[in-house]
Amino acid sequence: MKYDVIIVGGGIGGLTVGALLVKRGLRVLLLERGSKTGGYVVSFKRDGFTFDATGAFIGSCEEGGEFHKILAQTGAQGHLRFLKIETARNTYPDFNLDLHLTGGFEEYIREVRDLFPQERRSLRDYFDLIGRTGEEITRVGGLTRWQKILFPLYCRHLILYQRASLGRILDRYFQSDGIKQVLSTLPSHLPPSRLSFLYTATLISKVLAHGVWYPQGGMGSISLALESAFSEGGGEVKIETEVERIAVDGGSVKGVHTREGGFFPAKTVVASINIRRALGNLLPEEYKREFRWVNVLDYSLSSFLVYLGVEMDLSSLDLPYFSYVSSGDTEMEYEQLSRGKIPDYPTVIITIPTLLDPSLAPRGYHIMRLITPAPYGFRNGWGAGNRSLYLEIKKEMTERLIRTVEARYLPGLSAHIKFVEAATPLTLERYTANEGGATYGLAPTPRQFGRGRPANKTPIKGLYIAGHYTRPSHGIVGAGISGSFAAEMIIREQGR
Ligand SMILES: Cc1cc2nc3c(=O)[nH]c(=O)nc-3n(C[C@H](O)[C@H](O)[C@H](O)COP(=O)(O)OP(=O)(O)OC[C@H]3O[C@@H](n4cnc5c(N)ncnc54)[C@H](O)[C@@H]3O)c2cc1C
Repeated sequence: MKYDVIIVGGGIGGLTVGALLVKRGLRVLLLERGSKTGGYVVSFKRDGFTFDATGAFIGSCEEGGEFHKILAQTGAQGHLRFLKIETARNTYPDFNLDLHLTGGFEEYIREVRDLFPQERRSLRDYFDLIGRTGEEITRVGGLTRWQKILFPLYCRHLILYQRASLGRILDRYFQSDGIKQVLSTLPSHLPPSRLSFLYTATLISKVLAHGVWYPQGGMGSISLALESAFSEGGGEVKIETEVERIAVDGGSVKGVHTREGGFFPAKTVVASINIRRALGNLLPEEYKREFRWVNVLDYSLSSFLVYLGVEMDLSSLDLPYFSYVSSGDTEMEYEQLSRGKIPDYPTVIITIPTLLDPSLAPRGYHIMRLITPAPYGFRNGWGAGNRSLYLEIKKEMTERLIRTVEARYLPGLSAHIKFVEAATPLTLERYTANEGGATYGLAPTPRQFGRGRPANKTPIKGLYIAGHYTRPSHGIVGAGISGSFAAEMIIREQGR
């Protein structure tokens, strides 16, 4: 056979598997249905502006961090330069909070305590819990056999809080709604009552201990660096090649069939795509029953994005790269979103990449990117297939987001906009085949975090899954680590 391994899907998950496997001398083919690799993590150019299609930041890039290790092992690190994100601004209807992301736990606690002095003791206890839980999560991958047997002794918090929502823990520790809002301001598209506490503890403890970064050249640089590492190691990429069926015989994988009618034989296949498609539609009929659990998984909400080219000196306005303008009631907002509606003044995440990397826009201009959670079913599925209605809804939503930013963040913005484009949940789905344009793959609910997520090895011999529907979690780092999990299993199985 020409290939040892075939990877389906060239997002961060698929690229990571490939770049790690070629380093071990395996012959790998990656098949990507789109016109380039990267999935959600791509940049695109319009009128001299370089926009990030989706993401805003990445963690674990410090020396020894999980993503740093992947980049170093694959050789992708040499293609990248990370810029540290210093502050994040949280804006609520009644107050603002600038958080310094480089000062560790103590600085963060002090900043929140200054706003809510009456909660000082609870704050300390809460962060103590976050710290301990975060430590256990970091430790869990390196447990010895005996420690695994004695798991409840070594990872008490992981067992205690496995099914806990962030909301439940916040209610236990705090009185004021304001502090609960602040501590649940996280880019997850879920309100605290539905968000996994363990996920929150992982994210917060890592971000506060080590910080977050933006790659010079835009978020797409990460995928380009991984693809370069993959190709330099001898890996082969075929774009515009959609896998339509995974061939299985006698319980073992045999290869993949493409929509174009090609067949690529291999004993190992890694599917790093929408899990319902990978383990539902792509497998032979007789496996439908075995994998019917994929139908009850909760996918995360989609997003609506606005990309702006702005003629305005934003660097003189004391604005940070990353801001989170909260609607103030994420529970109510989520309730509306799950009924297919979007509030008049929704939560908006704002990034201004040119504050970190001015080369992304022509001189005298800046880029602003706005994101809000959005349901796939909004206004009858964004116009029920009617193109002119779709464009009208897209325009209305673009105006709604700009209006929100003008009212709550940057008055007078619209007078300076020189370029505007938007992406709907349908756009996200069209480019990446994430069903419903799911922003983060599986929603990080208590039921779907850690061991609650689908394992990277399937019961079909030679079939692995990676990406943001699988273990350990979503996001660029989560998808990357899932790829490293799958790669480790394959290397072990193939005795490399
Ligand atoms: C708006 C938005 C903002 C985000 N912000 C951040 C952020 O700031 N930080 C962060 O860490 N994460 C962020 N994320 C999440 C992060 O981007 C994803 O979790 C992660 O990139 C998923 O990677 P993946 O490899 O699992 O999948 P994807 O990126 O979805 O890639 C899957 C790939 O598989 C291809 N494919 C699908 N089906 C087939 C098939 N049948 N045959 C061949 N190819 C196929 C697709 O075309 C796609 O290229 C954001 C996501 C969105 C949408």
